[in-house]
Amino acid sequence: MSATLEARSVPFFNYRGAFSEMRDDLNRIFNDVVDRGAFILQKDGVEFEQAIANYLGVKHAIGMGNATDALHFAFRAAGLQPGDEVIFPSHTMVAGPAAVHFAGGVPVAVDIGEDRLIDAAKINAAVTPRTKFIMPTQLNGRTCDMDALQAVADRHGLRIVEDSAQGLGSQFRGKFAGTFGVAACFSFYPAKVLGCLGDGGMAITNDDQVAEKILLLRDHGRDAATGEVKMWGLNSRLDNLQAAFLHHQFKDWDAIVAHRRKLAAAYQAELGSIPQLRLPPAPDADSRHFDVYQNYEIEADRRDALKEFLKARGVGTLIQWGGRAVHQFPALRMTQSLPVTEKFFERCLMLPLNMMVSGEDVGYVAALIREFYAQ
Ligand SMILES: *Cc1c(COP(=O)(O)O)cnc(C)c1O
Repeated sequence: MSATLEARSVPFFNYRGAFSEMRDDLNRIFNDVVDRGAFILQKDGVEFEQAIANYLGVKHAIGMGNATDALHFAFRAAGLQPGDEVIFPSHTMVAGPAAVHFAGGVPVAVDIGEDRLIDAAKINAAVTPRTKFIMPTQLNGRTCDMDALQAVADRHGLRIVEDSAQGLGSQFRGKFAGTFGVAACFSFYPAKVLGCLGDGGMAITNDDQVAEKILLLRDHGRDAATGEVKMWGLNSRLDNLQAAFLHHQFKDWDAIVAHRRKLAAAYQAELGSIPQLRLPPAPDADSRHFDVYQNYEIEADRRDALKEFLKARGVGTLIQWGGRAVHQFPALRMTQSLPVTEKFFERCLMLPLNMMVSGEDVGYVAALIREFYAQ
C-alpha cells in the first residue's frame, strides 16, 4: 500500500504554522495595541471577556494569565478551606490537582469510566467527611455526563468546579462545559482549540461573589474602581494583546469547531472498522453530547510500535500528559491504584487534529494505520 501512498508530513501540532496564516491580521492588531499603549486590563480584554460571556450565557468571564491560575482562584473564591478534599479524575493534566493543592486543598484521584472521563460510580467510595468538591475534567473537548455527576454531588452535598481547560464550546444536553458548577476555567495555551501566542486563560462563573473574589485575586487584591486593597491578592491577568489576538480568532469560532468535527468524522470513517483500535465517540454518536475535539485520543493495540511506525513515515502523535496519569507521578505521593486509568495509559495515543490538518492528512494517517495493522 505504501508504494501508492504519497509521503507527506503531518506534525502532531505545527507551532510554527499555527498562526502564520493570520500573520497580517495579527500584525495589524499588534500595531494597533502598541499604538494605543494598551497592555494591561484594557478594552480589548474587556471586549473579549464579554464575547465569551455572551457566547456561553454566563454572567462573568474573567481573563487570566492561564487556566491553572483560573482554577486556583476559583477554588479559593468558592471557599475551599485548608485540608478540604477535591475529587478529580487521574486522566487529566496535573494543573488541576496542582490548583487544588495551592488553594490549600487535597486532590483525591479517582478512576475513569467507560467514556474515559471521570467515573461517577467511583466517586462514592472516595468521599470522606472532608470532601467538599468534585473537579471533573471536560477532556479532549468532551463534556462529562453531568447528570450522573450532579446526582453524586447532590447525594454527598459536594460542589462542582469544572476543569474545562479543553472544553470551550463543548456541550452536554445543550449546556456548555464550564457552566454546570460553581466556576470553571478555560485555557488559551497555543495548542488549545482557541489558542493565543503564549499563555492565557479564563475563569467563568454565574456567582457574583465568586466573581468578585476572583477579580480581586487576579489583580493584587485591588478593587478595580477605587484601587482599595481589599484582601491579599496575586497577579494573573490575561494580557490585553493576547486578548485582542484571541478575540480576532474567536470571530471564526464556528468554522474552527466545524473543521475539528469534520476531521473527527473522517477519522471515524477511515478507522472505525479496525478491531485493534478504540476511537473516541464520533460527532454524531450520542445526541446528548456536542464535542469540539480538542484532541483525538484513540486506544491502540501495540501502541508504541504504531507510534514509531507513524513517526518513521512523517506522522507526529502524542501520548497525553507524557504517558502517565496524575496518580502515577511518584513525587505527588498518591497511593491509589486506578486500574481503568492505568490500562488506558498503556494504549492511548493522540492523532493529529487541528486547524493545520486537512482531510487529505487524515486520509494519509489512516492509510498508514491500516497498513500497520494489516502487517
Ligand atoms: C491545558 C490544560 C490545563 C492548564 O491550562 P494552562 O492555561 O496551561 O494553565 C489544565 N487542565 C487541562 C485539562 C488542560 O488541558
